[in-house]
Amino acid sequence: MARLLEGKPLAQKIKDGLRKEIASLKDKPVLASMQVGENAGAAAYVKSQQKVAADLGIVYQLHTLAPDIQEEALEKFISKLNTDKSVKGIIIQMPLPAQVNYKRISRFIAPEKDVEGMHPANIGKIVSASAKVLPCTAAAVMELLKETGVDLYGKEVVVVGHSEIVGKPVAFLLLDKFATVSVCHIGTSKAGKLEAHVRNAEVLIVAVGKAGLIKGEWIKEGAIVIDVGINRVGEKIVGDVEFEEAQKRAAWITPVPGGVGPLTVTMLMRNLIEAAKAQA
Ligand code: NAP
Repeated sequence: MARLLEGKPLAQKIKDGLRKEIASLKDKPVLASMQVGENAGAAAYVKSQQKVAADLGIVYQLHTLAPDIQEEALEKFISKLNTDKSVKGIIIQMPLPAQVNYKRISRFIAPEKDVEGMHPANIGKIVSASAKVLPCTAAAVMELLKETGVDLYGKEVVVVGHSEIVGKPVAFLLLDKFATVSVCHIGTSKAGKLEAHVRNAEVLIVAVGKAGLIKGEWIKEGAIVIDVGINRVGEKIVGDVEFEEAQKRAAWITPVPGGVGPLTVTMLMRNLIEAAKAQA
């Protein structure tokens, strides 16, 4: 039976380290958060960020902008935050209204204040293994893997999902650990090859968003399984992996909820502290 890789206790441990780092900074770091219009999902995410910020002694500055704001006005707003020396990090809450393109607008955030690690300049640094700020979910996956104490050198690692926010950065970060990385995506599934890849995985990371995509019986004995997926099935939240069956075979597995999720906001705050140190 697999051991559970839980995000909450690990987040607590990382936060204890961050508190010490914040205490050594000259000023409390300020995180500027932009929310465009009202949205229940964004509001819930903001609330959890505010809670962690307050716990760590980070100043959380929430800017609620009009739902009909145009990109040009948003760009000007971001420019002001970029030049405000007291602001160390900037985050744009999702979702955005249809008239605002996240990819285009997020590029206006100064790379040194990009605490989501999604600016092309920061993504680029992942490829050369010189990134100090990592996309939060990818960073959470790497922390969970570290927690197992398993050396990734030479391991067969399979990443399912190749999004810019999770799958791609995780694949590069794993390459830096000298794992042998296979990245699966919709093409792999359509070619009927997903099962074979998953069966071969000593470490499996799944970030797709389809409940039950990964059958429990595909999991290799003794594998590490990190399930990033979040799916609502009736009243329940489940991952992409069939948990009950997978747990019987794996050595380590993340629960959903309670695995990757609780770590991501902590990673955001870690990025903010890295950004504050770099700007000091
Ligand atoms: P995304 O941008 O929609 O990417 C999903 C990926 O899965 C794409 O690469 C897609 O390939 C691939 N895919 C789709 N169907 C597939 C199939 N049948 N077989 C293999 N690959 C398939 O999603 P995301 O933003 O990466 O998020 C993925 C999941 O993680 C979602 O459930 C999301 O809610 C969750 N998530 C959780 C956290 C957290 O904190 N726990 C954070 C971020 C995301 P194509 O693009 O080629 O179709």
